[in-house]
Amino acid sequence: MPSQGLLTIDCGAVVRNWRRLCGIHATGAVAGVVKANAYGLGVQRIAPALLQAGCRHFFVATPGEGDYLRKLLGEGPMIAVLNGYDPAMRPDLTPVINSLPQLRAAKGPVILQVDTGMSRLGLDAEEVEAIARDPGLLAHVEILYVMTHLAAAEDAAHPVNAAQIDRFAELCLKLPRARRCVANSSGIFLGGRYASDLARPGCALYGINPTPGRPNPMEQVVRLELPVLQIRRIGAGETVGYGAGWLAARPSRIATCAGGYADGLFRSLGSGMRGQFRGATVPLAGRISMDVCSFDVTDVPDAVPGDMIEIIGPWQDPDALAEIAGTIGYEVLTALGRRYRRRYIAA
Ligand SMILES: *Cc1c(COP(=O)(O)O)cnc(C)c1O
Repeated sequence: MPSQGLLTIDCGAVVRNWRRLCGIHATGAVAGVVKANAYGLGVQRIAPALLQAGCRHFFVATPGEGDYLRKLLGEGPMIAVLNGYDPAMRPDLTPVINSLPQLRAAKGPVILQVDTGMSRLGLDAEEVEAIARDPGLLAHVEILYVMTHLAAAEDAAHPVNAAQIDRFAELCLKLPRARRCVANSSGIFLGGRYASDLARPGCALYGINPTPGRPNPMEQVVRLELPVLQIRRIGAGETVGYGAGWLAARPSRIATCAGGYADGLFRSLGSGMRGQFRGATVPLAGRISMDVCSFDVTDVPDAVPGDMIEIIGPWQDPDALAEIAGTIGYEVLTALGRRYRRRYIAA
């Protein structure tokens, strides 16, 4: 009898999403952003599937992630480290240079990031000026790409988008001619001036909607099912869960499932997360606990222990859960717990 949740991750869907993005960003290449264990879904399975499909550029956040990925993928693909140059990083990783001290310390192929409005990482205008005045600063490096990161690409009408791309063009004029790397997932859908030599999508590969407010052009990648551990019959007036927060209005059958907030089912999902059982939607009953959560299965009379209740699927995708919890799909994915049994569908 299963007592652990089952997380199914469709590597084929990731690859199809990547190909779809390649079709849209047809003037340049498309990388795979696989930081944070491929947004929680498992870099060990996803990165090789992307490599096999023809992806030749990968982005991770830290040198440790880069070290793991290089050992996994072998020589060949570019592996860029977003958080910047670190003297301890292996030399076959490509640092994203975010400051002059990092530029002075690095050698070999690099990506130069310029900050155009994110005010997070990257060279500022003064540092770009310093390079323009003293090109000797670039003597030890080879610029593979000049890169910037958009702050609000998911909001196509936001004025910061155009301001950033204007600023990027100005800063690029002060640097040696090099290929450019601009769009994240949402930036790819802005098209036009936001297209560059290399796009860097992450979330769209994993099924998050890069065009919020419009139909999701990406294929869903994740399915999460939780096993019923126990079915309990309670009378009208009895309560369920911590704080005695759910009151049975009628004689009820409550299915307690394996999976709680320690597995990434945020407690804040208690305000609307549903389950699906044999095509029927079942509401949560009571608060989400650390290891379990309960559903009211009174109206699906044949639920028994061992049955699986679906939590994430096309009908309730990570974006929908994020909406309930007051967060974004990225956080839902990266919080997916390590206690699930993971099943991968090969590309
Ligand atoms: C995470 C990240 C990306 C990927 O962004 P998505 O919105 O997931 O497509 C691209 N560029 C940088 C600098 C990032 O930090």
